[in-house]
Amino acid sequence: MIQPSLMMDRPLLISGILEHGAAQHATQEIVSRETHGPMVRQTYAQTAGRVAQLAHALRGLGVEQGQAVASIAWNNHRHLEAYFAVSGSGMVMHTCNPRLHPEQLIYILNHAEDRVVLFDSTFAPLVQAIAPKCPQVKAWVCLADQAHMPELAGVPGLHAYETLIAGQPEHFEWPEFDEKAGAVLCYTSGTTGNPKGVLYSHRTIVLNAVVSCMPDVLGLSTRESILPVVPMFHINAWCIPYSAMMSGARLVLPGPKLDGASLYDIMESEKVTVSAGVPTIWMGLLQHMEQGGLKFSTMRRTCVGGSAMPLALITKFNQFYGVDVRHGWGMTETTAIATLTNLSAEDWTRPDEERYALAARQGKTVPGIQIKVVDENGATLPRDGVSQGELMVRGQWIVERYYKSDKSALVDGWFPTGDIATIEPNGLMTIRDRTKDVIKSGGEWISSIDLENAAIAHPAVASAAVIGIKHPKWDERPLLLVVRKPAQSLEKQEILDFLAGKVAKWWVPEDVVFIESLPVGGTGKVQKNELRRQYGGVFTSGNAPG
Ligand code: AMP
Repeated sequence: MIQPSLMMDRPLLISGILEHGAAQHATQEIVSRETHGPMVRQTYAQTAGRVAQLAHALRGLGVEQGQAVASIAWNNHRHLEAYFAVSGSGMVMHTCNPRLHPEQLIYILNHAEDRVVLFDSTFAPLVQAIAPKCPQVKAWVCLADQAHMPELAGVPGLHAYETLIAGQPEHFEWPEFDEKAGAVLCYTSGTTGNPKGVLYSHRTIVLNAVVSCMPDVLGLSTRESILPVVPMFHINAWCIPYSAMMSGARLVLPGPKLDGASLYDIMESEKVTVSAGVPTIWMGLLQHMEQGGLKFSTMRRTCVGGSAMPLALITKFNQFYGVDVRHGWGMTETTAIATLTNLSAEDWTRPDEERYALAARQGKTVPGIQIKVVDENGATLPRDGVSQGELMVRGQWIVERYYKSDKSALVDGWFPTGDIATIEPNGLMTIRDRTKDVIKSGGEWISSIDLENAAIAHPAVASAAVIGIKHPKWDERPLLLVVRKPAQSLEKQEILDFLAGKVAKWWVPEDVVFIESLPVGGTGKVQKNELRRQYGGVFTSGNAPG
């Protein structure tokens, strides 16, 4: 019989991270850009005091344990305070993606039964539009002081954050409860049907935060200055708000300014050493740096995920800018990072180009996570780097069922991700495509990700996307959409010839369309649904969709 242990049973709670950070890293700094521009600086100890004030204020507004408080906000210090105050006091922090369609936003605010909504002034027009349709919300709190409150006629229970917390005690008796209690709620992007809620527990978040501090994950310590570009409104900003507080890293929060120039400026002026975000962010940054002939002085590591990071970009960041690019995979349903470039001791001895190619894959599982790929009958496929099937995941911070659903989301104890992947014998996983994006041509699959990565390696290409278009003979054929770099001339035949040397002949796109920009959603991913809506159709005689 298994022996029960004789160890203390102390719950893993988010308030524990806050208490640790405030006590052990009291003087460490949080730097945050206000929505109206200026930078704010406060220590972890001061932050903890303000977190306590917010917890008192929320209690004063009548929010009870188990009830949800929503945020529609940028990465800034008040959003961070909410992360800890709401979950720490036993309420549920519901982070909302402001770029959701307003109807979807109304749907999720009502579905989550949010009692209070915290929002940045940027989203005041949105709040004005949705407030009348969210009758259960008792208070709308603008993350600003009185002087920077937007005009908001007709929004009930409107408060300025700073006025609301002013005068509240800077100490809060953080309650103890089951670590499996709901802490944070985040809805999927809902490209098909209504968004679905994932309710993370305190335990899942604390465990993920511990793992994300590991040297080969984010590698956080008191010597690092981390800038999470990945939004706090989506999958917990990869748990960086928690892992920074846990490790005592300096936290730099960029507010609303996420363009290449602003990011470069804040990285330099705040001596950022580590960052994290989606590839589109790094493309913008790279373009700005290339145009200005700029270099980094302190940045040395970045974690990239959310969509595939092209090899060309990985190589450039490593070779020209001295930044170690770690490429990860995760989804709303996995709390944060599930796999990440994790080179073996032997891999580190390989030539640079080989290491960059390894980083172009989506990586190996971090401790706590297991993956496998299965065929359409659910049979496990070999880890041979070739057999591709649906990626299945399980682990200590993977969803079991969606919020308010009475049905498990699992198949034989594994979560089906909807991604198509291969796994190599050493555990290295490559995402080949989303099930809905892969191009089914003549009974074979063409990876839109591989084609995009090949296209972006062309020096005149700023960004690229590939979608499948119906074809009378082949079922589907790829259409390549290209955004040229400024002042570059690139014609259809040139890019097709370039690709012909890099991919199988039958993968070469059927046609190319040059566009000004790709539609990007709130989480920084290219919206292929939108591209399909605009450019979808049918290839008629072997070229342009008719
Ligand atoms: P979301 O839940 O909105 O964060 O989206 C999760 C999805 O993003 C995954 O299921 C993948 O399809 C995609 N994704 C995340 N990371 C990567 C990556 N590194 N490469 C390719 N696709 C990715």
